[in-house]
Amino acid sequence: MKPRPRLGAAAAVMTASGLVLSGCVPPPYIPPSQYDPTSIGSAPQSLVSPGQDVEGPTEAERIEMAAKLAAGYDYAAARKTLAGIEGPAAQDARAGVDTAEARAVVWEDSSRIPHLFVHSLIVDPRRAFDGDSRQQGYLDYMLTLGEFKKMVAELHRRGFVLVNPADIAAVGANGKMNYRDIRLPRGKKPLVLSQDDVNYYEYMQGDGFATRLVVDEGGKVKNEYEDAAGKKHIGAYDMAPVIDEYVEKHPDFSYRGAKGVLALTGYNGALGYRTSKSEYAGSKTLATDIESATKVATALKENGWVFASHSWGHLNMTESSAKRIKHDLELWDAEVRPILGDTDQFIFPFGADISGVPQYSGTKYEMLRNDGFDFFYGVDSTTPAWMQTGGRYLRQARINVDGLQFAKERRGDRPVLKNFFDVKKVIDPRRPKPK
Ligand SMILES: [Zn+2]
Repeated sequence: MKPRPRLGAAAAVMTASGLVLSGCVPPPYIPPSQYDPTSIGSAPQSLVSPGQDVEGPTEAERIEMAAKLAAGYDYAAARKTLAGIEGPAAQDARAGVDTAEARAVVWEDSSRIPHLFVHSLIVDPRRAFDGDSRQQGYLDYMLTLGEFKKMVAELHRRGFVLVNPADIAAVGANGKMNYRDIRLPRGKKPLVLSQDDVNYYEYMQGDGFATRLVVDEGGKVKNEYEDAAGKKHIGAYDMAPVIDEYVEKHPDFSYRGAKGVLALTGYNGALGYRTSKSEYAGSKTLATDIESATKVATALKENGWVFASHSWGHLNMTESSAKRIKHDLELWDAEVRPILGDTDQFIFPFGADISGVPQYSGTKYEMLRNDGFDFFYGVDSTTPAWMQTGGRYLRQARINVDGLQFAKERRGDRPVLKNFFDVKKVIDPRRPKPK
């Protein structure tokens, strides 16, 4: 039996605070040891044009790169980039790095870091909100591209800085999850951003969303988007490319190159490619789809993105039996993990966690841990931040940024998004008013 999750078919879920909410809610990560400041991953790609690979960037370009790295709070990488360059410009650049570093202090509490998440962004509201049977799901669970961009600019204006899970905590030699120090200038605040269901599901086709992620000639990840007239466009039409472009312009919005977490199921393939061997057996494009999706995933990781499992079949982990979960984990490992690469991140579909406030234990947790997952994310929109560590895991509650939460905030019902942005200013005028 194939699970066919549909937006709007939200299950009642257990949230971190034990409240029952409804809502759907999923990315990989780069362990600290893989943060190589000299790799393209943390260096601004725009400064490394393809023709320069052999000789490397010029001194002037390296000085500019160092300034960007320092603006992104990576002082060690900035110094490394400047190593061996003499002259007044390099000296000024080194002094600039020292000054910036002197302003950074250890973030006050790594156990209270907020996490916001979205689903695929609506590029063309007229096609998403066209009155068909899927409209209500899109209204409830999706943001428009315009809403997302306004939110990002406001988060930046308020001093939020994107961090990745590996910046927050890591499993130490003792096998326990330990918080790590985040160093930011005063006034800057860490924030995790994630996106669920980065699959570009079949049901969304023709409804005004991007159709997939692609790697352009410059090695950057963009979206493919087909407009209402059938014309294809390549550009930033969903979260990852929008954030990539924003951080390129505003390096101080990202901590050491971090971007966010992208969560994927498997039953419709990955990243807009129909890569599932079990679902698309016999597809003539299966091999090239897998190849293209893998290329996109690799480029995203090099640009600071982390992947998470969102289960293969969008499984409700609260309600599903251990046997069902085991089968699902095997499918995700067989069909999705080889494309995305290893990950220790798990984002619960529907926000349906395997425990409420009590710490994790028991068969379901052991299965997830044995499958390599150490970071877990549920949904709780009643508090700006909620985290829990226990043994080798970290749990972090996420706030859904979507139409349901917008409507709740406008009713004055326990508003939480006001800590991040003003809903009234972000909301798209093309979003039909709730009845
Ligand atoms: Zn989901």
